[in-house]
Amino acid sequence: MDGITLSSGTRIPVLGLGVYQTPPGITERVVREAIEVGYRLIDTAQYYRNEAQVGRAVREALSQGMAREDLFLTTKIMASGHEESRRAIAESVAALDLGPIDLMLIHWPQEDGPGTWRALEEAVEAGRVRAIGLSNFYGQDLEEIIRGARIMPAVNQVESSVLYQQRRLMPALDRHGIRLEAWGPLGQGRRGVLDDPVLARVARAHGATPAQVALAFQVRTGVITIPKTVSRDRMVENLGAADIGLSAAELEQLAALDTGRCIGWPGFPEQDYDPADHPFSPPA
Ligand code: NAD
Repeated sequence: MDGITLSSGTRIPVLGLGVYQTPPGITERVVREAIEVGYRLIDTAQYYRNEAQVGRAVREALSQGMAREDLFLTTKIMASGHEESRRAIAESVAALDLGPIDLMLIHWPQEDGPGTWRALEEAVEAGRVRAIGLSNFYGQDLEEIIRGARIMPAVNQVESSVLYQQRRLMPALDRHGIRLEAWGPLGQGRRGVLDDPVLARVARAHGATPAQVALAFQVRTGVITIPKTVSRDRMVENLGAADIGLSAAELEQLAALDTGRCIGWPGFPEQDYDPADHPFSPPA
């Protein structure tokens, strides 16, 4: 699996597995299978209530000879301010029980973002976390963290897919060496991404599936992507995206699919909403 070097100096696999809405009762099985079929990046969060199960599956893999440095664990806290965030960080580190966490994100903007960020910076300095970043940060929320940061965010995990490529956010991220990490890379399986005719045509040309082409587009354009599935077959399918080479012409056709409008942000009309216009509204 190819990787991307973050500003922290740590290397993150370009494609991983997300476990949002993976019920705790099956998370251990899902993560175990993901590691078996070749995933090396797992994305969880306090909010998903399955960190402990992710940690258990990873410890099992370690006990069978997998090296800790070959696996990359991301989690997210949702806490506001320094003290609350210190507690949240400690809770995640304890729940995962894997030693230092590879990447910890603020799940979405908080009232006291700078206080939360300071707690994350201290966690890096104390060796509890290797890299830190943001999620769902746009506009002023993003600027506020960047302005006060001693350690620059390594990533901003936001909704991104071939239909919503985050072109308005990218320049700010590029300027500060922040990598884009995509949630909802398959449009959350709802509609749009998986039944796009251009995607279907490119997929046919490669003997691939539309989901694979949607993910391959992100991998080839340097976006870290973490599709979610609980099915072993789909895990294999999605991971296979990393091996699909796309021609310059195909990349151009896929780039042209960008609508500039989000799909997965709930509570807003899908066709005319771009979170970049509204620095913060809470995700699901
Ligand atoms: P996604 O775009 O990955 O879609 C997941 C859904 O797509 C699955 O439920 C499944 O129904 C379907 N699917 C998966 N593989 C498929 C395939 N090969 N063919 C057809 N359908 C397929 O959406 P997501 O789960 O919202 O996002 C991925 C990950 O991103 C999450 O699991 C989570 O880790 C993270 N996430 C983060 C935030 C955030 O606020 N930071 C929000 C949402 C998700």
